[in-house]
Amino acid sequence: MSNLFSGINARFRGQRSPNSPGPEQQHAQSPVPPPEIQTPTSTTTSVKLPPLPTSPSLAETIGMDQSSGMIPTADEVLTSYHLPPVKPLWLNCNYAKHIVKGNFLTLSAKPKTVEMGEWVAHQVVDHWRMLVTFIRLVHDKEEDGTSICNSRRCPKMSAGANHSFTWLNSRLQPVEIPAYEYLTLVQRYISGKIDDNNIFPCDPSGVSYADNPAFCTPLPESGQEWIGKRSGFPQNFMETCQTIFRQMFRVYAHLYWSHFDDLFALNLEKSMNSCFSHFILTATTLNLLKKADLEPMQPLIDLWAALGTFPQGSKAFEVANLAVGQLLVQKAGGPPQS
Ligand SMILES: [Zn+2]
Repeated sequence: MSNLFSGINARFRGQRSPNSPGPEQQHAQSPVPPPEIQTPTSTTTSVKLPPLPTSPSLAETIGMDQSSGMIPTADEVLTSYHLPPVKPLWLNCNYAKHIVKGNFLTLSAKPKTVEMGEWVAHQVVDHWRMLVTFIRLVHDKEEDGTSICNSRRCPKMSAGANHSFTWLNSRLQPVEIPAYEYLTLVQRYISGKIDDNNIFPCDPSGVSYADNPAFCTPLPESGQEWIGKRSGFPQNFMETCQTIFRQMFRVYAHLYWSHFDDLFALNLEKSMNSCFSHFILTATTLNLLKKADLEPMQPLIDLWAALGTFPQGSKAFEVANLAVGQLLVQKAGGPPQS
């Protein structure tokens, strides 16, 4: 995966003037602050970035009859997704392919001797590094001052017609802002977190290792425990990482719903599929996203479960609706030709 973007970067560099200003410089004074800074102490991260009321939960949308316990058919569930009449290109098996074959699960599984906090931190940084390359393709401005993602084309941070994402304004009210502005803010927000030495300490002397019973007796735990404590990560470290992953997911969802054709035109759809499926496997394996968070991309998750991208036994496979995925494959006329 490390060489994945060498071609992308080359392509990207070829499109830009070396003197083009970056988006950060052009939006240095945004009226909308990052969510956590302005948010009162909260016990759940979901409060910080609430979805719009127009985004019903999956349980609500599938209309499950709680009293009778009737399980909806695959057709009924697919209908409940309210997909547009012409399905997105990425739900066609032939466009849901990857640049590599193999089991991504091995990339998400924590090595035995790595401490969990270190592993989560590594995943956050690595997935952000991959995603930011795609963001720049649609967000950075060309020489003529235009960008692929702009307020005219993407007046809000949406993922199809059924989902849009808000940002908190200075009065802590969720407001819709153009996707371009949202992408500016989310880059600043996540980079700010990753670069904060109090959240992601980078002193190598603080690194700890997971206890391996084959080599040592695990040390007794003392006091309050949390993931990453032994490596110096703060008590709210996992909560912060979950917020970062939820923001990254929203960006992927916008890229798929609004810019998949742009990435396809650049011959990068397989690269994004590879990064996003790896991201979903990691997020579900490490409990960084909840099933409800995945709703805007549930159809693709179902499809990838049916195509074997998410192997049986993985948490990504568990959150998928296999019958819906198989129905999508059937509607596309069978699995893709390799
Ligand atoms: Zn956009």
